[in-house]
Formats: sequence, C-alpha cells, structure tokens
Amino acid sequence: MKKIILTGDRPTGRLHVGHYVGSLKRRVELQNSGEYDEIYIMIADAQALTDNADNPEKVRSNISEVALDYMSCGLDPEKSTLFVQSYVAELTELTFYYSNLVTVSRLKRNPTVKSEIQLRGFNSSIPVGFFTYPISQAADITAFKATTVPVGDDQLPMIEQAREIVRSFNSTYEEVLVEPNVLLPDNKACMRLPGTDGKAKMSKSLGNCIYLSDTPEDIRKKIMSMYTDPDHIRIEDPGKLEGNTVFTYLDAFCRDEMFAEHLPEYSCLQELKDHYQRGGLGDVKVKKFLYAVLMEELSPIQARRKELEKDIPAVMEILHKGSIKAKEVAAQTLSEVKHAMRIDYFE
Ligand code: ATP
Ligand code: MG
Repeated sequence: MKKIILTGDRPTGRLHVGHYVGSLKRRVELQNSGEYDEIYIMIADAQALTDNADNPEKVRSNISEVALDYMSCGLDPEKSTLFVQSYVAELTELTFYYSNLVTVSRLKRNPTVKSEIQLRGFNSSIPVGFFTYPISQAADITAFKATTVPVGDDQLPMIEQAREIVRSFNSTYEEVLVEPNVLLPDNKACMRLPGTDGKAKMSKSLGNCIYLSDTPEDIRKKIMSMYTDPDHIRIEDPGKLEGNTVFTYLDAFCRDEMFAEHLPEYSCLQELKDHYQRGGLGDVKVKKFLYAVLMEELSPIQARRKELEKDIPAVMEILHKGSIKAKEVAAQTLSEVKHAMRIDYFE
C-alpha cells in the first residue's frame, strides 16, 4: 500500500512556533526522508470560514502568509502538493455523504470541538459548519487516501472520528476508504505547546503566540514577558519547572549542543534545570538563553521567507498548480465513493 501524508492548517493567521514543533517540522523531515509516495499539505480555508464567516478577508489574506511559512520552513512544492481546500469542491461533496454516517450525539462528544466551542463563546449559537467540521476533516484526509496525518495532540479526536467514518463507510458500502494513522510529535513538549501566557495551547485565536515571522525584537519582548514560576521572586529562591513555560519551550527547542555557543557554563538542559530548581538562577538569564535558542532555529527560516516574500504571485501560482493536482486526486476518490454508494448513474 502507498504511504500518503495529508495534513494542513487553517489560514486564520501566520503560523506560530506551536505549529512548527507540533507538525510543520515533522512534515519537512518526512518529506525529505523519501519514504512517502505522496504528500498533500492543505490550507484549510473552508474550515477557517466555519468560525470566521463574517471575516472572509482575514482568511483570504492569510492564504499566502501560510504558504510563505510552509515554504520558508522547507516544504518543497516539487516534493509536496500544497493546495487550497476550497478549490477542491469534491471535498464538500464527500463531507455531505459522510454526514449520513455520523450522529449528532457523536459530534457532541468530540472533546476538541467541545472545548473550541467554549473558547469561541458560541454557547447555543454554534454554526452548523463549525459543529460538523470533524466530518469535513475526515473528507480531507480520506479524499487523498492518506495513511499518515502528522498533527499536534489537539487533533487526536479528529483522526479518531475520521477512522470511524472510514470503517462505517467501508462496511456499509464497499472497501474504498483508507483508515488514517495519527503521527504525534515524539517530544511531549511539542504535542501541545503552551502559549507565552502559560495557557494550555498556543493558538492563533488566543493571541498568545510567537509567530515564525515575528521580528527578532518582538520575539525578544515576548520571551521577556513570558510566564514562568510566579513564586520564583528572588534569584536565590528555588524555582519550579512544572508549568514553567520557558522551560517547556526549552524542552521543545533546545539541543544540548547549543549550550557551547550560547551558555557555556552548562553542558546540557538537565544541568540548567537542576540549578533552577536548587535556586540561584534568575529567569532573565534563562529567557536570554531561550531567545538565542529560538533565533538559532528561526533565523534561517526568516531569511528564506524574506526571499520568498519578494514574489507573492509565484507563491500563489504554486498553490494554484497544487490545487489543480489535488482536485484530480480527490475527484478520483469521489468517483469510487459514488460507485460504492450506487449513485453513479451515468457512468
Ligand atoms: P486556530 O486557533 O485558528 O484553530 P491553531 O493555532 O489552533 O489555529 P490550526 O490551524 O488549528 O492552528 O492547527 C494546525 C496544526 O498545528 C494542527 O496539526 C495542530 O495540531 C497543530 N498545532 C496548533 N497549535 C499547536 C500547539 N500549540 N502545539 C502543537 N501543535 C499545534
Ligand atoms: Mg486549531
């Protein structure tokens, strides 16, 4: 069986370091491993509209921003198909048929949707499109017969729901669809990177992000005002690591070999952590180190972005080409689906 990746992001803002460690970095590694037959990376504009119906300009303006983030991180349009969801109308059609296989109570149980509804303050006025987006996500994944979906752990319930839809479809009709497997980051800190405010998830909608394309000065300021241990008041006080966002980010980004250049008094992250817990190590010093660590990772990405930003029409052309290709693949799956459902009257 072919090994196929599908994953993507909502164009609700530029991409942040949570996206990077949760999924983007992994995608680039998988792309360059040469182990996958096909890779599809989707900009989920239709999904973004489910909770931004009144703000289409926001979604529109972020299409090229997300594409720039993709390519500056190393996603290569020669190896991965980058495309825009709304161009592939077949995905909407699949969603409609899959809706018949999912109950309202099952959707209500989806923990990610539950918490996102709360977060967005929808209360009882939940847009139907938002409520049912896990079904549309199942359509996105299965249209490409994806075997592997690299995502952060907030997406686990979505993949579980997609797998259920596949099983239901295949047993009700014919074995057409492929059950996808989730691929989570292997580093715990990366599964759901917290926001700079210490809140559970860095998220475009929460405004607690360090964006990949933030200026070095903005990144420095964001790090300096980051949440640490509120009881660590004087340098000599012992500090806590649990819930200390600066250390969580170090867990996500720091490699021991970075100490030699940026903080040679220590040889590894564990030594730094031990000192912090004993007392005698100030937050500012740790934050300055985190800044150096982050910039080491982000500088080459930002330099590539500056180059790519010079030719936005070329970026849009890449998305257009990718979307045409994605549409062909999805159309093939849709025709198999319709055949299995016995609604292919004229073929
Ligand atoms: P929104 O607030 O609009 O939902 P978001 O910041 O949650 O935006 P998405 O586009 O929904 O971003 O997520 C895209 C991908 O990035 C998903 O695979 C998701 O799991 C991953 N991701 C998003 N935020 C984080 C995070 N803080 N840590 C790890 N992975 C993340
Ligand atoms: Mg999200």
